[in-house]
Amino acid sequence: MLYINGEWRPANSGKTMEVINPATGEKIADVASAGKGETQEAIEAANAAFSIWRKRTAQERSAYLERIADKLQEKKEELARTITTEMGKPLGEARREVDSSAAYVKWFAEEAKRVYGETIPANQSDKHLMILRQPIGVAAAITPWNFPLSMIARKIAPAIAAGCTVVIKPAPATPLSAMKMFECFDEADLPKGVANLIIGPAEEVGPVLTGSPIVRKITFTGSTAVGKLLLKQSADTVKKVSMELGGHAPFIVFEDADLEAAAKGAIATKFVNNGQTCICTNRIYVHESIKEEFGKILAEKARGLKVGNGLEDGVNVGPLINQASYEKVQRHVQDAVAKNGQVLCGGNPYEEDGLGGYFFEPTVITNATEDMQIATEETFGPVAPIFSFKEEAEVIEKANNTPYGLAAYFYTSDLSRGLRVMAELDYGIVGLNDPAPVTPQGPFGGYKESGIGREGGKSGILEYLEEKYISIHMI
Ligand code: NAP
Repeated sequence: MLYINGEWRPANSGKTMEVINPATGEKIADVASAGKGETQEAIEAANAAFSIWRKRTAQERSAYLERIADKLQEKKEELARTITTEMGKPLGEARREVDSSAAYVKWFAEEAKRVYGETIPANQSDKHLMILRQPIGVAAAITPWNFPLSMIARKIAPAIAAGCTVVIKPAPATPLSAMKMFECFDEADLPKGVANLIIGPAEEVGPVLTGSPIVRKITFTGSTAVGKLLLKQSADTVKKVSMELGGHAPFIVFEDADLEAAAKGAIATKFVNNGQTCICTNRIYVHESIKEEFGKILAEKARGLKVGNGLEDGVNVGPLINQASYEKVQRHVQDAVAKNGQVLCGGNPYEEDGLGGYFFEPTVITNATEDMQIATEETFGPVAPIFSFKEEAEVIEKANNTPYGLAAYFYTSDLSRGLRVMAELDYGIVGLNDPAPVTPQGPFGGYKESGIGREGGKSGILEYLEEKYISIHMI
């Protein structure tokens, strides 16, 4: 169902689209499929609500967000099962996604109360200069399937905290988590029109959102290719944009690293969500003196990961989202093997009685080289390639040699090296001996073609605010 102006409703045309469980290949739901007309209606509802919502006090907006966060926690199990059923990640990861979504909503409930203005020392004694921060207006959000709940939370929470209203288009592969989130909005009595849900094909919904002069902000999470297209489409109406795009994270293991901790970190950053996150490790650079030993430890840990339906106990790695992802993973492995990559574990589709869907074995490949496809393309799957290096400067150059700049990780026990390397990596997020840097109070976003803007942290709410400078002449 769509949620427009506080009402659940079907598409005007009566059209629906199927939602498939990637672990079984079975249809789990039919949902309304909206077109241009409903998208326009949602924009108008958000616009009408904006004039009222922006005038609510920060404390009032904050209280709504607190209630939404509580609802998310109350429905944690139901939400987690929905996430796993429609996109495949193991239930434990889905529960953590619900926790993370609630934590972002709570963070922005607090941030709503900290949108301060400024006064500026004037250059004349009869002048008074100040800055107001005001909500930008209607924001349109477009989100991917890999974190079907938290990507929405990270956009809607700062928008409504700032006083904006929102139209959201979730990925059609995962609309059920979005609908559940809107149930939370409904139950928290969020005023009508403040948040609107449009489920529909990109080619119908996208151009209406980007082309509308009413929509003042586009916030997108997804691939770099689609982000570039949305930037072009938003140019005609000169919208403010936030772009959370693709990544190609390097993971560097220096010769002085704690190898056990580094291998654990590499497993966590590579195989979380079956390799389908923008901050997943894509290239593991290991100092040549420890490459063999590290490869052995990593392969042993990867072999220990249990593949299966994410709803089952003990499963660490679920299915890939669809046929195209599955083929890309196979292509990367085949290309690496053809170029003398040595498979230390995995390397094949994973088959087991009773499993449908697109499962692939957790894979570690050593002797990776820069001419392999995996060295330049985001794999978005469970393949860990190990490259080797000799010198610190060499590995920094290699790590930075990509159009992407989202997350990078490195392991060392040398403090001076740590300070040097963290400064030199051209990435928006750096984990130094830390495989889990993401948290609501930290700014999340990328350098270069990984994006524009930040989600979370102190800067997250600024993405939804305009700065108004006022000069007063006391005549
Ligand atoms: P995607 O193909 O770019 O799709 C993302 C969203 O954009 C979906 O809702 C999609 O809907 C929509 N979309 C596609 N074409 C559109 C168009 N022309 N106009 C309007 N909307 C359009 O990405 P994905 O495969 O879902 O997600 C994986 C990518 O997201 C990876 O590259 C990953 O690195 C990136 N990602 C980045 C972050 C980050 O924070 N930086 C976080 C998560 C994921 P349709 O399905 O209908 O096309």
